[in-house]
Amino acid sequence: MKYLIRQGRLVDPVSGIGGVMDILLEGDKVAVIGSDLSAPGAQVIDAAGLTVCAGLVDMHVHLREPGFEYKETISSGARAGAAGGFTSIACMPNTKPVIDSPGAVAFVKEKAALARREGGARVWPIAAVSRGQKGQEVNDYEGLKAAGAVALSDDGVPVQNANLLRDAMILAHRQGLTILSHCEDADLVQNFAVNEGRVSRQLRIPGRPAIAEELQVMRDAMLAEETGAAVHICHISTAKSVAIVRRYKKKGVQITCETCPQYFTFTEEEVLQQGSLARVNPPLRTSADVEAIIEGLKDGTIDAIATDHAPHSAEEKARSLTEAPSGMVGLETALAATLTALYHTGEMSLSDILRKMTLNPACILRLPGAGRLSVGGEADLVLFDPDEEWTVDPEQFRSQARNTPFGGRTLKGRVKYTIIGGEVIYRYGEEGTAL
Ligand SMILES: [Zn+2]
Repeated sequence: MKYLIRQGRLVDPVSGIGGVMDILLEGDKVAVIGSDLSAPGAQVIDAAGLTVCAGLVDMHVHLREPGFEYKETISSGARAGAAGGFTSIACMPNTKPVIDSPGAVAFVKEKAALARREGGARVWPIAAVSRGQKGQEVNDYEGLKAAGAVALSDDGVPVQNANLLRDAMILAHRQGLTILSHCEDADLVQNFAVNEGRVSRQLRIPGRPAIAEELQVMRDAMLAEETGAAVHICHISTAKSVAIVRRYKKKGVQITCETCPQYFTFTEEEVLQQGSLARVNPPLRTSADVEAIIEGLKDGTIDAIATDHAPHSAEEKARSLTEAPSGMVGLETALAATLTALYHTGEMSLSDILRKMTLNPACILRLPGAGRLSVGGEADLVLFDPDEEWTVDPEQFRSQARNTPFGGRTLKGRVKYTIIGGEVIYRYGEEGTAL
């Protein structure tokens, strides 16, 4: 199959190439990028008014399979990713059973292949740091890597044992695998629902203090410095976390980090309006934290924007704030939420934003062929209208879950086409029709 994408505004953070261009896709590769291309027999996609870039990469999602298929499956999550403009997503291992053996990684790979055939994004498995995510024993990283794991993480059940984490960093480093660290001190956060601060006091419930995150960001930065291993901090949410990462990056330590749209869009006050829909770990913080997160994105301290897509059932999220599970879905709103908060406000350029949603996460995970658009490279692309406004209706999601605090909000930026391996796998407005 050949596609000629005509007159799209190309944004390529790698080469700096920009401007209105045509792109010819042949088979699963990008064949030509240029002006006024003609290609007899090619199917033409009119991209006038649309931005064209490498397919988005989400380095942090929860797809819930195996074990929690009532929340999400690899197939439904991968299809949600495609609708959100993502061509590659990396899924966390906190499933049942935990993805901590080569066999379990192989299971995810098998389901991922099936999901691809059903029109989903590419799914890359992340394996657990510790056996059963219990924080006691390291796993067989060589075996996990050979089976296809792209990184290691105990996300969801943060590693509390510094001795284990130190060993894990050294062993992971030998395998060329990065540890993705969910930083929260378990004793300080327990199972509390919100940030410790104005809102927790108002609600008269205990909160998760900022320092619970910052202590572990500091610990992990120091361990990375000591071991020489790479560490990636997941979903940073506080001003001090940003400052710590900034300081250790300056020292030349191999530390990277991500944040998520919820941390630069909402403050803790959102919980008062939306209850459990705004419950997430780490929690939504203060407006000073939001400002620091945006500053960290702008100055390059924060490398990536991920979703931490965390599906739950309606029944689970209907429980009270203190009883409901934490997390929110994000695959189908991430691009629009990010453009709304960072691009349309004039904070960041499209190229800088897209670098954090394509190239940077692909590099941190060392995903082959992902995150860049180049002649001869993989034909994974997204086409979107950066200016189209729409109101989020969770009922329209391809995800099985509806738990988002963005429901009912008007966002600016609409994914129009998602192309993977040279095939149009998502086209806005043609849901359900053969493509
Ligand atoms: Zn996490």
